[in-house]
Amino acid sequence: MSIKELQQGFATKAIHAGEDPDFREGATGDVVAPIHLSTTFAREKVNVPTAGYEYVRSLNPTRKALETKLAALENADYGLAFSSGLAAETTLLTALLKSGDHIVAFDDLYGGTKRLFNNIFNNYNIDVTFVDATDVSLVEKAILPQTRLIWIESPSNPLLKICDIAKIATLADAHKLVLVVDNTFLSPYFQKPLALGADIVVHSSTKYIGGHSDVLGGALLLNNPDYYEKLQYHQNAIGAVLSPFDSYLTLRGVKTLALRMEQHQQNAFSVAGYLLQHPKVKKVIYPGLESHPQHALAKAQSTGFGGILSFEIAGNQSDAKAFLERLRIIALAESLGGVESLIELPSVMTHSSVPKEIRKQVGITDTLIRFSTGIENVSDLIADIEQALK
Ligand SMILES: *Cc1c(COP(=O)(O)O)cnc(C)c1O
Repeated sequence: MSIKELQQGFATKAIHAGEDPDFREGATGDVVAPIHLSTTFAREKVNVPTAGYEYVRSLNPTRKALETKLAALENADYGLAFSSGLAAETTLLTALLKSGDHIVAFDDLYGGTKRLFNNIFNNYNIDVTFVDATDVSLVEKAILPQTRLIWIESPSNPLLKICDIAKIATLADAHKLVLVVDNTFLSPYFQKPLALGADIVVHSSTKYIGGHSDVLGGALLLNNPDYYEKLQYHQNAIGAVLSPFDSYLTLRGVKTLALRMEQHQQNAFSVAGYLLQHPKVKKVIYPGLESHPQHALAKAQSTGFGGILSFEIAGNQSDAKAFLERLRIIALAESLGGVESLIELPSVMTHSSVPKEIRKQVGITDTLIRFSTGIENVSDLIADIEQALK
């Protein structure tokens, strides 16, 4: 049996894929992919790059190890690693679209993705129509003759709305459109959009994949060889690549993804349960709760609900600020997906650029709080929340 055939389980792949020890003559059998800092690779013959390597931007062995591992985790044929999630997104858009093309996108996307569409690609005559993609008929209605791409995220941020990925994939297929799914929130451990029919998966590996709030990165995972060739060409031409050192940190972080995601989720359930019974908490949004309007869909298309939850506390924005500023263990910070718990106030922090009327319309109230549950002892997290709510 080949090594690849033996690497079946998610945790096994997270630890071993892309890092099989090299026993060839002169190699040292490292169990961890070495950090190859060399920016160029010498060759013996003018026409033959050594082992396919020419120059660090085009390809580097440490980045390649990470790309192989991330592809294995999404059950994808191909993977590419970028210097950030937004670098991955930019490369995708430039590789697959041209001036005059149109995108249909979920109106509850990550703010940075919206900014990229509205303030950058807009200048290159690429238009976007934002729709509530939880209703597939609205996605269909927004498709124009020049539409090339559908872009969704599920669960969304910070309202944790769920899109029916398989239904939207069927629609994309019927109209010959590329379906892109940002899978950052659940990670490949809990959700595999390619298996549900998506064409390209996007990750901000800064979040759960890296997992330790110490490395910025992004990735694209896919099965289509033509798209892969285009993306690889654009990645090299644009230069949005992940550095060897950051590739190493991400490789190191992702090895524990399975363990971490299980603990994030277990802690999220416990915190959600605590918040639900607290008199000062008005509402708890977590896809794992039966009270979540799309709980059944979340359960059907994912193998878990992740570690992010949102909740609304009674009172006004000052009460929400006072609560957040009283927390001692839980860090008041943007970002998510790290081992440490991170909490924030979307109306003032991550989503302050969304106009107030729109925030109100979609449900991002002044006291809505987003919590990225870490993997600390949950009793300590609950005690921190309890003292801060007093
Ligand atoms: C953070 C994030 C991004 C952007 O990734 P960066 O690594 O910060 O560039 C994209 N999508 C989602 C859902 C994110 O949370």
